[in-house]
Amino acid sequence: MLLGSVADDFTGATDLCSMLVRGGMRTVQLIGTPAPDDPVPDADAVVVAIKSRTAPVEWAVGQSLAALAWLRKAGARQYFFKYCSTFDSTDQGNIGPIADAMIRALDCGFSLHCPAFPTNGRTVYLGHLFAGGVLLNESGMEHHPLTPMTDANLVRVLSRQTDGTVGLVAFPVVEAGGSAIRDAMTRLKEEGRSHAIVDAVTDAHLIAIGEAAAHHALVCGGSGVAMGLPGNFRRAGLLPAAGDAGTLPDIAGAAAVLSGSCSRATLNQLGYARAQAPVHELNPLATPNATGLAEIALNWTDGKIGAKPVIIAASAPPDKVAAIQAALGGPEKAGALLEDAMARIAEGLIARGVRRMVVAGGETSGAVVTKLGVRQLRIGVEIDPGVPWTLASGNGADLLLALKSGNFGAPDFFPKAFQMLKD
Ligand code: ADP
Repeated sequence: MLLGSVADDFTGATDLCSMLVRGGMRTVQLIGTPAPDDPVPDADAVVVAIKSRTAPVEWAVGQSLAALAWLRKAGARQYFFKYCSTFDSTDQGNIGPIADAMIRALDCGFSLHCPAFPTNGRTVYLGHLFAGGVLLNESGMEHHPLTPMTDANLVRVLSRQTDGTVGLVAFPVVEAGGSAIRDAMTRLKEEGRSHAIVDAVTDAHLIAIGEAAAHHALVCGGSGVAMGLPGNFRRAGLLPAAGDAGTLPDIAGAAAVLSGSCSRATLNQLGYARAQAPVHELNPLATPNATGLAEIALNWTDGKIGAKPVIIAASAPPDKVAAIQAALGGPEKAGALLEDAMARIAEGLIARGVRRMVVAGGETSGAVVTKLGVRQLRIGVEIDPGVPWTLASGNGADLLLALKSGNFGAPDFFPKAFQMLKD
């Protein structure tokens, strides 16, 4: 293992995995902190996904440190703490406390921080994070229900979360390239800074930052800043020339889509797929319990399951969602009931021979993966940016699984996903 990573949420971990596979690293995502004697996957990079972003600080730090200890025992040569490209956190954490704890555990004294991902419109300039061309605190993120981001100045934001001090590697230095960035970070560390926000506006900047961090024990940031890391391992002779790191074994079996996302992109994708595949929509108003909804959906699949996908959806447009939430006792209760139904349906579909499955929705994916006892995902090729096919294994049968976070993917995502697989 060359790179060992701890990620603060589930679909964010997959995003990092995809970036590493693109860079030619064979990558495995582990679901939750591994037990001390869990086997080490045969991979160049392992990303441990922990749902720590909005968890209580102590739990988040404890889990992250346990994952780090496991990755160290597995022999990783460098470590990465992956968080969201919009720096989702509060003044209590959890980015600062986790980074502080990892710096202490690795005894490395310093880490850079770069959430930039220019392809997705996230850039950092003079320490300020922009999302979609506007300052983070004007991007809509200031209204986030759990982690409202009301300050775009990341030096200030991180300073409020850490016991250490935060410096800045500013745009002119980053423009000057890898060795200028490395020298600036060394100076900041010598001055006693334990963190530095590093500006980045282009992919070239991210690659230069990666190069500058070749000998750093820890790198913190979004998946963008991982872009430059595979090149370091390759230059050191530790990683073969970029080949196809995303080859998965073929798994034959029936196909299905489970959609629990109500995001606009997913609703469009369902509209597109409707013309090509049979769709069953859950009706929680008529059947307000998870077992009943699952039974009806699974009965509907009789005689329909095969190589061509069936689609089962909870997804609905905003007015229908509001009516369902009102009838079922609020958003949380409605969401939990439908996630439970989807997880039961997934289990039933596997029992009926489905081995190729797309799940739409971050929370929905979490519920499905937990129910199926999936422990690890080996990352394959991307269907659309940030959404790869994966080989899921754990307590049950191995299967090909694609977990799509709600807003990801082009309109033809669902049919395209299955067309990519061998017949
Ligand atoms: P996304 O990635 O788009 O945010 P998630 O799966 O994370 O999707 O979240 C969607 C939430 O909405 C889930 O809790 C899901 O159970 C819930 N949900 C899905 N369909 C409906 C619906 N028709 N009415 C109310 N809630 C729904």
